[in-house]
Amino acid sequence: MLPRDTQTTIPNLPAAVTLVRTGPAPASPDSSGTTKVSFVSLGLMPELMRAVADQGYQEPTPIQAKAIPAVLQRRDIMGCAQTGTGKTAGFTLPLLQLLAPFANTSLSPAKHPVRALIVTPTRELAAQVEESVRTYGKHLPLRSTVVFGGVDINPQMKALHAGVEILVATPGRLLDHLNQKNVNLSRVEILVLDEADRMLDMGFLPDIKRILATLPPQRQNLLFSATFPEEVRRLAAGLLRGPIMIEVAPRNTPAELVSHQVHLVSMPRKRALLAHLIRSHDMRQVLVFVRMKRDANRLARQLQHDGITAAAIHSDRTQAERMQALEEFKQGKVPVLVATDIAARGLDIEELPYVVNFELPHSPEDYLHRIGRTGRAGLPGEAISLVAPDELKFLEDIERLLKRKLPRAERAATDDARPAGPREHRAHPAPRHAPSRAPQARQHPPRSQPKFDFSKPYEPAPASETAATETPAASGRDRHKRPTAALLGGLRSKSERK
Ligand code: AMP
Repeated sequence: MLPRDTQTTIPNLPAAVTLVRTGPAPASPDSSGTTKVSFVSLGLMPELMRAVADQGYQEPTPIQAKAIPAVLQRRDIMGCAQTGTGKTAGFTLPLLQLLAPFANTSLSPAKHPVRALIVTPTRELAAQVEESVRTYGKHLPLRSTVVFGGVDINPQMKALHAGVEILVATPGRLLDHLNQKNVNLSRVEILVLDEADRMLDMGFLPDIKRILATLPPQRQNLLFSATFPEEVRRLAAGLLRGPIMIEVAPRNTPAELVSHQVHLVSMPRKRALLAHLIRSHDMRQVLVFVRMKRDANRLARQLQHDGITAAAIHSDRTQAERMQALEEFKQGKVPVLVATDIAARGLDIEELPYVVNFELPHSPEDYLHRIGRTGRAGLPGEAISLVAPDELKFLEDIERLLKRKLPRAERAATDDARPAGPREHRAHPAPRHAPSRAPQARQHPPRSQPKFDFSKPYEPAPASETAATETPAASGRDRHKRPTAALLGGLRSKSERK
């Protein structure tokens, strides 16, 4: 059943803002006879219904239930929603429908002016959004392309010259194209600013203003943001006209589905503790956060050295390297991905079981963004933070935001396997959608893990203690390939999620 909607006045926004607040549960059929919200009832056209059915979506998520009719009515929207709520389809489906009358197969670029512009903070998000545009628009002859920095500009230029109705872009590269007159935005009817808070965090406000200045004043504006700090409200106030505000609780709020664990540990001990936790929890898919790019590289290298397959993802790596690292991680080939906040922002990694904060973020909102990668799709996840003494003040900020104290691991021995304990009720520490062999593999390793004593430097387990879980030849790197190999295929790709 859809939660009750509430109407509220939002400060600092133009008058006539309508707030539609929905809860985390998707609309669903209900034995009590409550009206079922279906994609059909939202007024989507047959071509889009087919695309939605192809994806295997049964019913709209809360944000889709609210955003689709509002966008179809050409209302401006301020959407408070994180990645994972289905917001991309929430704005892409109605956008495609509004543009459908312009769909044509003419080869003339003049027949394909940019009519919708979607601006995102990161390359990964831009690529994902454009993939969604293609997926949902596959039965309509509308053209789309994506432009972002860090890759050759020429193919992008060609695509723009050929003409596209829907352009997905990061701000810097879009400005490059505007400066080079590769694209004309004077026919844009719909503007989407996705993850507006992160764009402002990344210092894109001047770029966004320059882009806005090239758009026609008469247009529909959709702004999505996970948080609404003052700067985002100010941007929204200048941009949106009589917007409908749609607020969607994350599918899983941290309090509900993510279990938090804090390990108080000195900085030099963190790496050994991380390696220990990865092994003792038999983590097969874990996103590890650091603050600096160089630390991401270094930590990934050190983990490799410790025999744990790991990759790094951050903004200094080429787009191809980032995409490859992400793909291998999603597929379960690389169990550990070390990331910076910016690189991980907006990544659609479904149902990630573990997030480790190797370093705490300096902004408590980033903690929420980080742990928003796990505990999705109604499944619990674990957020483990390694906190050095000089990070305690950041921990306090996070606890203030979450309005509760996060549980401390008494000592690392609590991370060893025990017959029953707070962690053991978590049913799926391995990548979800794992083949049925996976749980079996999980039964063994914990018993053989060495006790870990915080008061001593970390020492790897003696061979005799680990032998029970390994083939005699397995060692170092191979040891960690073994459980991963059982999961090859890891997460389902979009087309498989049916
Ligand atoms: P987003 O929040 O847009 O990043 O979407 C998160 C994930 O939810 C994506 O993998 C989508 O494919 C998936 N998704 C979007 N809409 C639905 C839906 N109505 N039912 C099931 N999954 C969906």
